[in-house]
Amino acid sequence: MPGSVSFEHSGEIAIVFVDNPPVNALKHEVRFGILEGMRRAAENADVKAIVLAAKGRTFMAGADITEFGKPPKAPILSEVIVFMETMRKPVVAALHGTPLGGGLEITFGCQFRVASPETKLGLPEIKLGIIPGAGGTQLLPRLVGVEKALSMILSGDPIPAKDALVCGLIDEIVEGDVLQGAIAFARRALAEKRPLRHPRERDEKIKLANREKFEEAASAILKKSRSMDATKAAIESIRNVFALPVDEGRKRERELFLRLVAGEQSRAQRYIFFAEREALKIPGLGKDVKPREVKSAAVIGAGTMGGGISMALANAGIPVTVIETSEEALKRGLDTISKNYATSVKRGSLTQEEADKRFARLRGQTSLDVAKNADLVIEAVFEEMNLKEEVFSALDKLAKPGAVLATNTSYLDVNMIAAVTKRPADVLGMHFFSPANVMRLLEVVRGEKTSPEVLATAIAVGKKLGKVPVVVGVCRGFVGNRMLARRQQAAERVLLDGALPQEVDAAMTGFGFPMGPLAMSDLAGLDISWRNRKALGTRTEIADTLCEMGRFGQKTGKGFYRYEPGSRTPIPDPDVDEIIVAASKKLGRTRRKFSAQEIVERLVFPMINEGARILDEGIAARASDIDVIWVYGYGFPVYRGGPMFYADQAGLAAIRDKLKIFAQEAGDETLEPAPLLLKLAAEGGGFASLNEKKAAA
Ligand code: NAD
Repeated sequence: MPGSVSFEHSGEIAIVFVDNPPVNALKHEVRFGILEGMRRAAENADVKAIVLAAKGRTFMAGADITEFGKPPKAPILSEVIVFMETMRKPVVAALHGTPLGGGLEITFGCQFRVASPETKLGLPEIKLGIIPGAGGTQLLPRLVGVEKALSMILSGDPIPAKDALVCGLIDEIVEGDVLQGAIAFARRALAEKRPLRHPRERDEKIKLANREKFEEAASAILKKSRSMDATKAAIESIRNVFALPVDEGRKRERELFLRLVAGEQSRAQRYIFFAEREALKIPGLGKDVKPREVKSAAVIGAGTMGGGISMALANAGIPVTVIETSEEALKRGLDTISKNYATSVKRGSLTQEEADKRFARLRGQTSLDVAKNADLVIEAVFEEMNLKEEVFSALDKLAKPGAVLATNTSYLDVNMIAAVTKRPADVLGMHFFSPANVMRLLEVVRGEKTSPEVLATAIAVGKKLGKVPVVVGVCRGFVGNRMLARRQQAAERVLLDGALPQEVDAAMTGFGFPMGPLAMSDLAGLDISWRNRKALGTRTEIADTLCEMGRFGQKTGKGFYRYEPGSRTPIPDPDVDEIIVAASKKLGRTRRKFSAQEIVERLVFPMINEGARILDEGIAARASDIDVIWVYGYGFPVYRGGPMFYADQAGLAAIRDKLKIFAQEAGDETLEPAPLLLKLAAEGGGFASLNEKKAAA
């Protein structure tokens, strides 16, 4: 037996025990070991039943994704499972932790599955742009029904043991030691002579399935999927259970799986998977730096962001005091939070009991004094420097020593904010995204004087909140909004040069963004950036004209589009077309047609260019950090891997040449290719080569 799998047996029960820390990934040696163990158990006449279990914190948590893209080494997982399906002795999987992906599929080679109560089971392959490749799409529907399997495989989200028991994925929940529980279950199965049916032999739920309902659910998912190859393949494969014998279905599944693994989309998604983990390695922040303990928090401002941030904290079990300027504003903020929880309960994503528990962690106050008790204070007041400075100098006087003081500013200089305190080492930015209780991205803005410990604390809190924290440096708009500003500028430019809002948005949603940039502006409110421009003394002809007419976006029912009362659906508005044409005329621009491809290039390439500057300035530590920010915070299609990954695919030389043309046409030197982009293009390299150099350094 190989080192990472042992075969133990005393009496009639054999245990095939996997031990491949940290998560018992199904690397080649493990697959081989399990097969070997099962063979021995099958051949040994003394062995009457087998338990498949894993040591450490979890049952096998999936494939070893470092093996992806390499030639498969036999036995592949499906071969192990197929062998297990020939066994005529009861095999019980003893599950704990997170049996996911291949880790769950291997249990489909067993006739029985038992799990400890905290177990989470799922097939998350879709999140890497692939589908289960060892029978998951054919065998899960046979256990839990087609519709449940569709929702599990297409969401990729795991389900808790309790649900798994209800839907038939497991046979029993074991309190206490799961291995002992599985052994006891095996003995009972023997004693009761339970029928030994592998999932492949169980067709009753397929026969009962409602094909029409399946198709309805599938087309709803397809509509939302932004043309992801894996979504289409998963649906196609699950649909095969209706028509094909199980082995034929598995053969087709494998073909689809291999095609996806070799495809561009999955490559991009696997890149993002690793990029997200890479982002947690912070230059200059050693493992010895320990985060401070955060037992309680205060959030200043209960508006859009303060409310969402408070919910995120409360959801993660951290008691929060929300501070506002008046009882009225406080009540408004808390009412919104309470409504949001009620909506979750109504939708079934939260139980009433859990919602009550979370809401009970929130306290409202109208005096800043109460912030003195908090380990972490997050400021989310209006985006005005004077106000932020006022709040931070007050906090400096009252916050307890060692408290972390964070600002949620979108654009402002975190160093200036820190400078009004006598403890700039405790100050940093925690830039959440709206809605803050939902969006995964957290830009952690490291000020010049932010201490490593404080940085580590913000990252630890971010992780506790289920966020994806990415450390960035101080500059106007940090990484995400600074690049976004380039896209907005470019959108205004193509409108002036001939495109209409619906064309711009269709091009960008066609590229894979969930929403076009102009519909997005309508949602966020056009007045915010208008106020900003007025303060800076700049003008953006079309957007400013819309605002001057009181068209602030969804909140006024009109913006780049018009909206029917109570609806969020943007409807193209001929009035806007007129405004745009007039603006072009006023500025002496000749209007022409743009193809979708041209629109995408004109909007995305300037963003990439700004990304290159950001890298050059060290505002982001690596190109992959920028990609994580855009995928998690701004809806950049994950299957394109983020703007910098996409740039490498599109070719930096081609982007450089286009940027030169854009710069010349617009007479705008900020569109000239950035020095780093020029250098990489000349070397024939890409942004990925920077990631590699950093990794090697
Ligand atoms: P908002 O107008 O919805 O809320 C601000 C709240 O702060 C208001 O309720 C106001 O009463 C309160 N407030 C003002 N002064 C205060 C004080 N001295 N003490 C306590 N409360 C006070 O604004 P928002 O959209 O939540 O933005 C807040 C901050 O978050 C800004 O810095 C903004 O740039 C940033 N931000 C916003 C978004 C977004 O999408 N809205 C995203 C990321 C960051």
